[in-house]
Amino acid sequence: MNLPNTPEKWAIHLSKLIKLFHEAHGLDRFPINVADIARDYSKQVFPDAPITMIEGMDLSRKFEGAMLPHPSGNGEWGIIYNKSIESKGRINFTLAHELGHYLLHREHSVEGLRCSSRDMHKWNSEYGQIEAQANTFASYLLMPLDDFRDQVASNAINLDLMSHLADRYDVSLTATILKWLGMTHKRAMIVVGKEGFIDWAWSSEPLIKSGIFYRARQEVTPLPVLSLAAKQDMLIDNRTGTLHPKGVWLGEEDVRELTIFSDQNRLSISLLIYPDDAPGKWDQDFDEPTERDTYEQFVIGGQV
Ligand SMILES: [Zn+2]
Repeated sequence: MNLPNTPEKWAIHLSKLIKLFHEAHGLDRFPINVADIARDYSKQVFPDAPITMIEGMDLSRKFEGAMLPHPSGNGEWGIIYNKSIESKGRINFTLAHELGHYLLHREHSVEGLRCSSRDMHKWNSEYGQIEAQANTFASYLLMPLDDFRDQVASNAINLDLMSHLADRYDVSLTATILKWLGMTHKRAMIVVGKEGFIDWAWSSEPLIKSGIFYRARQEVTPLPVLSLAAKQDMLIDNRTGTLHPKGVWLGEEDVRELTIFSDQNRLSISLLIYPDDAPGKWDQDFDEPTERDTYEQFVIGGQV
């Protein structure tokens, strides 16, 4: 049997099996039960290296999860997640991430892999091919594109829609927004703020093309003073958002900002929606493409 060889293909392969199984048994397709799939699939397809343990454990705060071989060397594998994590969505994403490591990397990582919270936000090769692949697998497995597109359809983009999707797929709000940013034609960005500063940010491809993104490794960047994220004014309906005049956020345009606060308001998650057409679009079309490097985007930070 030819098995898949990329994160996307592995996720699509499993998605098809899950969909068939659920249709045959009249079950809901979502959210995906990663633990059941990891056990059943590995037992059937890799009987010499099954996943036999999936558990929460006391790990240092730094770690989100791990994929480890059985200490006896009997070929079995275990997937563990940090028991101190309370968000079900984060745990689910971590399990899928570790299953991705199992399918893609266990033969080269015989000692297993331990994954930090930061690893869960590595989406490009610069910060580690292996972690980016596990995240891509998890994203495609938990939020298959066909269903994600159907759900978004022509709905207005706001945090209620993103929360609905996070519930449907049992993933964190940030994982949902990153998924949407990866497929949308809209010019948009997520900015996660922490204690007054930008912790990390990520722009959609169309927004990067107009040159609007935060570069990784640049000096610490404070949240804009006039942003909802910085003001933390609970009298404003931050979820519905505010249309800021140009100059508040990056770029020479009005920007809609929708924000939620979490973790006792230590963290802010802002979704920035820019106008569909960049200013001076016609001029730009005749210019050379904007010099850019998606790998320079901020992708560092803990998962919310
Ligand atoms: Zn990992």
